[in-house]
Order: sequence, then C-alpha cells, then structure tokens
Amino acid sequence: MMRYGMVKQLHAKYFVVACLLVLILCSCSGRDDKFQEFSINGSTMGTSYHITIVGDSIGTYERSQIGTLVDSVLIDYNHILSTYEDESEISVFNQQETTFPIQVSSDLIRVTRVGLELCQRSAGAFDITVMPIVNFFGFGFEEGRDRFPTIDEIDAWLELTGCDKIEINANNLRKTDPRVSIDLSAIAKGDAADVVTAYLMSRGYKNLFVEIGGEIMTRGVNRYGKSWKIGIDRPTFGGAPGADLQHIIELADMGVATSGDYRNYREVEGRRITHMIDPRSGSPITHNLASVTVVSDKCLYADGLATAVMVLGAEEGLRWLEDYPGAEGLLITRASNGEYHESMTSGFDQYIIQ
Ligand code: FAD
Repeated sequence: MMRYGMVKQLHAKYFVVACLLVLILCSCSGRDDKFQEFSINGSTMGTSYHITIVGDSIGTYERSQIGTLVDSVLIDYNHILSTYEDESEISVFNQQETTFPIQVSSDLIRVTRVGLELCQRSAGAFDITVMPIVNFFGFGFEEGRDRFPTIDEIDAWLELTGCDKIEINANNLRKTDPRVSIDLSAIAKGDAADVVTAYLMSRGYKNLFVEIGGEIMTRGVNRYGKSWKIGIDRPTFGGAPGADLQHIIELADMGVATSGDYRNYREVEGRRITHMIDPRSGSPITHNLASVTVVSDKCLYADGLATAVMVLGAEEGLRWLEDYPGAEGLLITRASNGEYHESMTSGFDQYIIQ
C-alpha cells in the first residue's frame, strides 16, 4: 500500500514551510557578528528542517559533510518512528495483531514512555492511541473521509483508545487489545529536534538552533553572541509564517513548540476541522483555543504539552500547564469577532522580549 502521507511527502518541499513552520528565527543586521554561522536546510517527516550552527571557525569540508550526517540521523529516526513508512519499527508494531509483548528499540520505548506519561497526566487528553481517529479525519497517513463519523464508528474507536491500551515492560511494548496502534506524531518532531541537537553537540558544536517542522531546540548563542530570538505567529488561518507575529521570545538552552488549529485543517460537510483530536469524544476539538506555545528544556515535552493543552482548552489547559513542572506556555484564543486574546503561565513572560 502506498501511504497517503508518502504522496504528500512528494510535495513536501513546496508546502512544508507554509503548512508547518509556526515559529521563525528572527535575523538581525550583520554588523555585530561575533562568530561564524552556517545553515543546513532539508526535508524530513513530511516537512522541512532548518539548522543553524554557530562557531569560531567552521571549515569548508565540515560544512559540506554535516548536512549529510544530519540527514542520516533523521532517516534512521524515521525508520523507527514514522507511521508513514510501512516498514518502520512503529508501523511493524502497529501491524502486529497480538497481545504478546514485542521487543522494540530503546528509542521507541523512550518516546512511547513520554507519550504514556503525558496521557496519564492529562487524563487522556493527550493520547498516543488516537491514530484511527486522526486517519479518519485525514490528518494521518490515510486519505480522510469527506463525512463525519457515525456514533458506532466513534464508539468503536473509543474502545481502542486510552493510555491503558499500551504497556511497557523493559524493552517490550504490549497491546492490551490486538487492534490498538500507536501514533507518536505529536511528540516525535520535538524529540527529533532534541536528538539532532544531542548529535551535533556530540560532534563538538555548542551553539545551535535546530528547527524541525516548527519545533525548535536551542543551545548556546547566536552569531551575535546573544540568546536565540524566535517569533511566535499570530494564529491566523492561511497566514504566512512570520508575516504577523504575536511575540518575539528569547531562548538559550531551551526547546519551544507550538500547536495550533490554523495551519493543518480541512473542511468536512461545510465545517472546518483541525488535526487536534479530543480522544475522549473521538472528534476534532471545537473550542476557541487557536494556538499554544510551550517552552521546556526538552523539545519533546514542549511539543507534547502544546498538543495536550490544545485539547484541554484555554482555561483547563492553562491551569494544567501551570502545575506542570519545568514548562511555561502562551495560549492564544480566537474570539468570535476575530480578535485574539492571550493568556500565559506565570513564568512565560521571562522569555518575551517583544
Ligand atoms: P502537533 O501539534 O505537534 O501534533 C498534532 C498531531 O498529533 C496530529 O496531527 C495527530 O497526528 C496527533 N494528535 C492529534 N490529537 C492528538 C491527541 N489528543 N493526543 C496525541 N496526539 C494527537 N507527514 C507526511 O505528510 N508525510 C510523511 O512522510 C511524514 N512522516 C513523518 C515521520 C515522522 C517520524 C513523524 C513524527 C511525522 C511524520 N509526518 C509525515 C507527519 C507530519 O509531520 C505531522 O503533521 C506532524 O507530526 C504533526 O505535527 P504538527 O506540528 O502538525 O502538530
């Protein structure tokens, strides 16, 4: 079977930036440069990545090699976590209709463990077993339907979703129902940003900006010797990334991720639906929370927490995130008159510079 997502990936280089890049690096003049900088850009996970490396001296040979090395890290990563690859480790696990424990890689265990932790802590608002619903609505690797589901279909999904449907024991993953499948899309891009950052640091690079599909990890300083500056888009439907900024934030050694309803959406039976699914109801979210940006020391967590808060909604999500250790967030709601309102956790304003 050729997966729908693979077809989408063929067009990736044309639409990825417009679809997924929610945060942009703000550049400044070039007069005060303290260090050299070079960038690597490429495609991965149906989207794009942009990496900036800053250092005292970066040789030409090094520059020519590092992109290839990063690509191979990302290719290996996709072979583990991509539900868009039939032969990836996660797809093979999903295809096995058994309740016997299945031995998997430490990376799949590690990311699944965080997915289950977020699921438990959000009481199921974040749920890694949500894939059948994501696919039905056309936000996964299958082509979506042009109708809303029946009550029977929703009931059937709800039987197959929940944190209790997947168990981890040492290196084994086990489904409690053979039909269950897992989807780590809500945290894997953030995790990949962490993984690529760790890889580059292991090669001696200390000052890094690693962005994969809008999820960002920073280390050290930019070429001016200052913290990295990142723009947060106002969540306007169809708005170009970076065209209309809500804020600019400054980060050092932190990750940031945004989830929103304004880039990945489609129309079904005359209604706009988003890719953020409420696993408790089996439907796309309908409340007025338009975007959530989360800062954390791991982009993996920033990514997952942003999705969880999107599902929980503005009020409950803000309260929940305030209590979550090591994370701060900015929530933007869309009022019926088209105005945007923001709320944030008590520590988020330390990052805002504009
Ligand atoms: P985020 O806000 O980070 O996450 C939203 C996504 O999480 C949804 O799209 C859904 O999949 C899932 N989700 C929705 N609701 C919930 C919930 N309540 N709990 C948990 N999860 C939820 N796309 C392609 O078109 N082609 C590809 O080849 C391709 N390969 C990929 C490979 C990998 C390893 C990964 C991780 C993703 C890949 N994608 C691919 C998917 C694409 O990049 C996704 O759109 C992306 O992962 C979702 O990220 P986001 O930033 O849009 O949304």
